[in-house]
Amino acid sequence: MLELLQQKLQSLFKNLRGYGKLSEENISGAIREIRLALLAADVHYQVVRDICEEVKQKALGTKVLESIRPGDQFIKIFHDALIEYLASEKQGLSTERPLRILLCGLNGSGKTTTAAKLALWCKKNKERVGLVAADLTRPAAREQLTKLASQIDVPVYAPEKEEKIEAFLSRALEQTKQDRLSVVIYDTAGRLDLDEELLKELQLAYSVVLPQEVLLVIDSATGQKGVDIVKAFLEKIPVSGLILSKFDGDARGGAAFSVKKVTGLSVLFLGTGEKVEAFEPFRAERLVDRLFG
Ligand code: GDP
Repeated sequence: MLELLQQKLQSLFKNLRGYGKLSEENISGAIREIRLALLAADVHYQVVRDICEEVKQKALGTKVLESIRPGDQFIKIFHDALIEYLASEKQGLSTERPLRILLCGLNGSGKTTTAAKLALWCKKNKERVGLVAADLTRPAAREQLTKLASQIDVPVYAPEKEEKIEAFLSRALEQTKQDRLSVVIYDTAGRLDLDEELLKELQLAYSVVLPQEVLLVIDSATGQKGVDIVKAFLEKIPVSGLILSKFDGDARGGAAFSVKKVTGLSVLFLGTGEKVEAFEPFRAERLVDRLFG
């Protein structure tokens, strides 16, 4: 993950540290390289422009030029600017209990796997968790969720034959209440594309479940397209946070850097592998430190 950006930045940092003094020209050159590296990592151009402008202002406005270790000082300014762009305003999930989470996303985004990962994470945090297989269109998705639920030893609520979505969700709502669950994750239907039918079904699920959290799962590798997907969902449903799946397979990492600035939504979790344990809360500092080596 982030290898591409990491490599480019490391080589830039090495050069910068080699300078005894930094001229304005050196700083402009370094910012040009940062711009190219961020664009190559598929970071949104608006974000690239803003980060570069901020670093430039700060670097020229402080004593970087005269300091003893100007390279390090410049790197710190860039480091702090990146954290500022990445940091989430929303930290973690709502503290309301019972907590209802509606999980949505396109097919193949890793939504079902993420439902199980999130359930396991909540379980490890001492919650009484349940999973609701709210995808009535694909029996395979239901089976997959049931299998994952048994793997992590969490109860799963599935529709009966030919049960309609509304009736099923109302039943699941009642049952999970009776079972005194503290967190219930509703795995909704996905589609290959964001079509009207999917959005209608999601809106219906939302109106029945009235979740405190609507989390959207985005495949990190979709990059800028992922940012557009978030915007399209947001127009129809009040998404409250994002989960970037398959972060382990994304050498570029652009979506992680772009999404907050462009959509206003925070990334709450990262999926970092196929296993159910491969899941972590999103921490800007941790990500930037990884990048800076
Ligand atoms: P859904 O169609 O959105 O429900 O997607 P699935 O949960 O079935 O996942 C699609 C594929 O992505 C599966 O092969 C998963 O194992 C894989 N997958 C999901 N999350 C991750 C992740 O964080 N990292 C990696 N490497 N693979 C993942």
